[in-house]
Amino acid sequence: MSNKNPYSICTWSEESACIDCGLQGKLNCKLNPWDFTFFMLNQVPSLVMALFGLVLIGLLVGAWWPLIAYAIVCVAFWGLGVETRILCSHCPYWAEDSKTLHCWALTGSPKIWRYRPEPMNKLEKATLVLFFSFVVLFPVFIEAYGIWFMSVKYAEFGLYALLGMIGVTVATLMAGLQFLYILMFYFCSKCVNFSCPLNHVPKSMVDEYLERNPVMKEAWEKSGYKLGE
Ligand code: SF4
Ligand code: SF4
Repeated sequence: MSNKNPYSICTWSEESACIDCGLQGKLNCKLNPWDFTFFMLNQVPSLVMALFGLVLIGLLVGAWWPLIAYAIVCVAFWGLGVETRILCSHCPYWAEDSKTLHCWALTGSPKIWRYRPEPMNKLEKATLVLFFSFVVLFPVFIEAYGIWFMSVKYAEFGLYALLGMIGVTVATLMAGLQFLYILMFYFCSKCVNFSCPLNHVPKSMVDEYLERNPVMKEAWEKSGYKLGE
């Protein structure tokens, strides 16, 4: 058992161990730096539009609490390691013996939690879905409130300001959907964190990966997962 790979996870094994594997090229099971760059670039439009819209609401409507609430939730989830605890600590990428994470999405995050080879539980999945929904939908709802507010005070804001707010809201929604579309169809369809609620790798491939990773296989079977069904 290698010191760098204490759980003998094939994602962290030498490339030579992959020669006979039918999953080669079908899963994001080895780190590809280009995927990390693509993932980072993919989230820029939605985050920029969300922050821009929430600042606009603060300036035009005078309501700054949505921006503050958004910042607090994001800092708690990403900055305090809630996401890495409920999601990443179950991921094969987390199993590397290292102080920081190396993967296609959160490279550089401090690894403050122990590795959990078992699947995510229901509470962890529900928390993750709630957070992702909040990140994408909260700014859109607040901007929609801004449209309503400016409509009610039309005499004060006028047509161009109202059209501008509608444009920002549509752009924020489109940027959020674009982020989710690429996430779901480029990343989640190949990700090795199989118990994430967004993951949709076919079961036959999940089983094949588990067969190559006995520590994970044992933990998954203990949690009730059945291979081959
Ligand atoms: S599943 Fe494991 S053994 Fe197969 S290609 Fe990926 S890293 Fe290599
Ligand atoms: S779940 Fe995703 S973000 Fe977390 S370690 Fe795995 S690949 Fe990286």
